[in-house]
Amino acid sequence: MDTKAMFKFSYGLFVLTAKENGFDNGCIINTAIQVTSSPNRISIAVNKANKTHDMIHATGEFNVCMLSENAPFSVFQNFGFQSGNTTDKFAAFNQKKRSANGIYYITDYANAYVSAKVVQEVDLGTHTMFIADVTDAEVLSDVASVTYNYYQANIKPKPQVTPAQAGKTKWVCKICGYVYEGEELPADFICPICKHGAQDFEKVAG
Ligand code: FE
Repeated sequence: MDTKAMFKFSYGLFVLTAKENGFDNGCIINTAIQVTSSPNRISIAVNKANKTHDMIHATGEFNVCMLSENAPFSVFQNFGFQSGNTTDKFAAFNQKKRSANGIYYITDYANAYVSAKVVQEVDLGTHTMFIADVTDAEVLSDVASVTYNYYQANIKPKPQVTPAQAGKTKWVCKICGYVYEGEELPADFICPICKHGAQDFEKVAG
């Protein structure tokens, strides 16, 4: 079996937002799809470690914002590389409005959003799949949607290799481009930029 086949799936990238007890939060997901058109129903799968997961579990409501190709890396940093448990991600993020359900959606860097109400939860171990009815939806721009491939090719910073690292074995984070120098990457290594683990690094020969 060649598990690299899994990388041939295409994905979009989305900011998933929720609100609970007056607190707004959001995270990046790549797992939003429409599952039926009648009723208009979507599914998302969210890692249980995300605060947004717990907020949706508690409230049963969320927005999915379709990121567009003009979204800068800072949007991915703000929503993807820090936790709502320690940060108010919306405090310094101004490209936002509230939809009819009272939850924020992203304005300038998203081309659409949908609001949804959970009708079913499926426990997947590390993740929960939420199946939800679309209750509202708006198109915001004609800019193309970001795919995971587009993010990798055009938004993620190119690895910054210092002169001292040239010719040495390095490990590059596939999520954010961070460069670790060393022959071996510790198995428990956590990327200081995006907080992803060693499994998301690839070895680059010197
Ligand atoms: Fe990283």
